[in-house]
Amino acid sequence: MTETLFQLPQPPAIPVLGEAAAYPLGRIFCVGRNYAAHAAEMGVEVDREAPFYFTKSAVNAVLAGATVPYPPGTVNFHYEMELAVALGAPLFQATAEQARTAVYAYGCALDMTRRDLQIRERKKQRPWDLGKDLENGAVFAALTRTADWGVPRTQRIHLAVNGEVKQDATLAELIWSVEEILCHLSGFYHLRPGDVILTGTPAGVGPVIAGDRIRGQVDGLEPVMLALTAPE
Ligand code: MN
Repeated sequence: MTETLFQLPQPPAIPVLGEAAAYPLGRIFCVGRNYAAHAAEMGVEVDREAPFYFTKSAVNAVLAGATVPYPPGTVNFHYEMELAVALGAPLFQATAEQARTAVYAYGCALDMTRRDLQIRERKKQRPWDLGKDLENGAVFAALTRTADWGVPRTQRIHLAVNGEVKQDATLAELIWSVEEILCHLSGFYHLRPGDVILTGTPAGVGPVIAGDRIRGQVDGLEPVMLALTAPE
C-alpha cells in the first residue's frame, strides 16, 4: 500500500441487524421532492418527468444516536426523515428486476439541511452543497436486510422532535419508487455495493435548535436518533 502524507477521516460503517459485519458506506445519493406534500410546502412543483438528485459526502455521515453541535453558517437548520436504500450489487442501466434484487437492506436516515442556505442558493440557481453537504449532515440507523423487512409499501414514516410528532406519512406517498429511482440513477452512475440512496422526505420538515432531540422511524426498521448541542 502506498504511504500517504496524512490520514483522512473515514466514513462510518453502518451496523446491520443480525449481521456481525457492518455495511461500509460508499456514496450517498439523495432524491429531491419525492413526496408531493413536501414539494408543496417547499413552494415548488414536483417534476413528473424524472427524479433529481444531490449528493452528500460519506465522511460527513454519522450513526444514529450521535450528539452533534448545531452547525455553523445557518439560522434555520432542518430535519428531513427518509427511507435509506443500501445496495448490495452493482447496477448499471438496470432493469426493474435487477434493481429489485440489488437492494441489500433498508434503513432510517436523516437528511439534515441548512434550509436557509439551500433556499438562498436555489433562488440564485446555484448548487445546494452548502445547504445539504454539511458535517454530520447525514445520519444512519442500523440497516435491516431486505429479506428481514420486505419492500416499501404502506409503512408509516414519521419523525418527532422532543417527543412531538412533526412528520407523519406513509411510503405509499413516494412519487418515484425505489425501483424507478435505481433504474434512472443507474443510467448516470455505475452503482455498486456501498452506495446508499436517501429517497426523499415527507411533508412536515422544520427547524431544530440546540438541545433538541430528533427521533425518526419507518415501521419495522430501527429508529434514527440525533441530539443537538450548542454551536462550537
Ligand atoms: Mn431530503
